[in-house]
Amino acid sequence: MSSFVDKARIHLHAGKGGDGAVAFHREKYIAAGGPDGGDGGRGGSVVFIPDDNMTTLMDFQYKRKYTAADGANGQGKRCAGKDGADLQVRVPRGTLIRDTESGSIMHDMSDGKPFVAAKGGRGGWGNMHFATPTRQVPRFAKPGLPGEIRDVTLELKLLADVGLIGFPNVGKSTLLSVVSKAHPKIANYHFTTLYPNLGVVYVDEGSSFVMADIPGIIEGASEGAGLGHDFLRHVERCRLLIHVVDVSGSEGRDPVEDFTIINRELRAYQPDLADRLQIVAANKCDIITDGGEALGKLRRYVEGLGFPFLELSAATHQGTAELIRLCAEKLSALPPIAPFEADYVEPEPILETPEDVRIEKTEDGLWLLEGEWLKRVAASVNFSDYESRMFFDRCLRKAGIYARLEEMGIQDGETVCIYDLMFDFRY
Ligand code: GDP
Ligand code: MG
Repeated sequence: MSSFVDKARIHLHAGKGGDGAVAFHREKYIAAGGPDGGDGGRGGSVVFIPDDNMTTLMDFQYKRKYTAADGANGQGKRCAGKDGADLQVRVPRGTLIRDTESGSIMHDMSDGKPFVAAKGGRGGWGNMHFATPTRQVPRFAKPGLPGEIRDVTLELKLLADVGLIGFPNVGKSTLLSVVSKAHPKIANYHFTTLYPNLGVVYVDEGSSFVMADIPGIIEGASEGAGLGHDFLRHVERCRLLIHVVDVSGSEGRDPVEDFTIINRELRAYQPDLADRLQIVAANKCDIITDGGEALGKLRRYVEGLGFPFLELSAATHQGTAELIRLCAEKLSALPPIAPFEADYVEPEPILETPEDVRIEKTEDGLWLLEGEWLKRVAASVNFSDYESRMFFDRCLRKAGIYARLEEMGIQDGETVCIYDLMFDFRY
């Protein structure tokens, strides 16, 4: 495997809304019908779908841009344009979706549900919305709104019940291959395993759990040594850890020191990781060269700290069945790991004031008013109620909107159009 792929930065581009149509009803023997231009369709959204059959973010190395379809334009005869299709992007279930710029979490796909990460733009209104009794031939329609554009970073944090941790070469991959159906690469040099392997361990009577071999945790991993962070991030999701320690003495290491160093790295990466329940597996018991001195020392140290301790030989399968039983027993008492909380906040739209209201006079003499401030005020008004309409009228006057219209030369009786509200202007 060439590189370690569990993080990918991609670009999402939701579809643009279709434009509203300008069209007029035509029928034989009727000279000029009313406006009947339909609305544009909604742009497609980019939607992430969790997929349990995926275990890497490999695909995202090659394809970086994900674009959903645009909405179609509106048509005559009041026909709305077709909505753009959503683009579905499949990701492994343990994927976190982060906003690249702020780094904050938008969503944790481990909840198993689809997530809309970039919304399509709304379609524009056709001219059929702009007809009034006095304005029969509106020659304008609204363009569709652009779709959201987002830069997101996908980050895979494996979902495994049990994580195998320990120095390189202590026998983690061997253990995983022995107790599960996974067949990871095994070799006698450091950093063989470049990707965490997952395996399903069958206990009995249909009960099973997922075990992950988490390679690459070495001294300095918490500061990024080797591919430290890339590996440590997977430990976060494991409910239980098996800490594998080589007690054979064949590599001249001190097992108590190895055990302490790994735990120090966990704590430095994230303090509560070191408090996660660990079963300590003293491995390579079949080739002990020091008469069991190192094994005894580790046992006293670890049991003194209150960790469950087991002797093991992954190679000869000694102690593996017992280890699996112990894991199953501990897991049954542990809560599931909680998904990550989303902490992404949509940036506040800049609060618009009455001064930001845009006024435009169309070529056929309609006054179009637009702006966030207007939308907010209009939303609180019930236009079928006289008092409420008077309130809206006062708001516009106080905010200086009428003064601006007069300045721009509005004539008595001309039509003012504020979204779906229209009225004739009176001095
Ligand atoms: P990892 O780096 O922790 O994944 O270690 P591996 O599983 O790749 O094992 C490293 C080496 O130790 C390999 O040559 C294994 O065959 C050997 N090994 C693993 N477990 C045992 C064991 O219990 N006894 C003996 N004798 N060798 C083992
Ligand atoms: Mg390995």
